[in-house]
Amino acid sequence: MNIAGLLAKLAEIQAKGPSVHCERCGLYYLAKDYDECPHCSHLSDKELYYFLVEQEQKRAGTKQLGFGFAIAAVVIAALMLVVSI
Ligand SMILES: [Zn+2]
Repeated sequence: MNIAGLLAKLAEIQAKGPSVHCERCGLYYLAKDYDECPHCSHLSDKELYYFLVEQEQKRAGTKQLGFGFAIAAVVIAALMLVVSI
């Protein structure tokens, strides 16, 4: 990314305003758009529990996918090394 791209990104972040960390669900939201957390303010404690479990499962799935791509990259690099010798 060049300097102009960085400045454009900085202006975009400043235009969005500060984000607020929700103590209840741990997610962030834009203070200027919402008075209360859009993720969990409408959920009961039980619904919040299921929401957090779902979030953790998504996070674990993403982590596992990243690990799979890292393994694939190592295998491909090893194959390229073997073929080039
Ligand atoms: Zn929340």
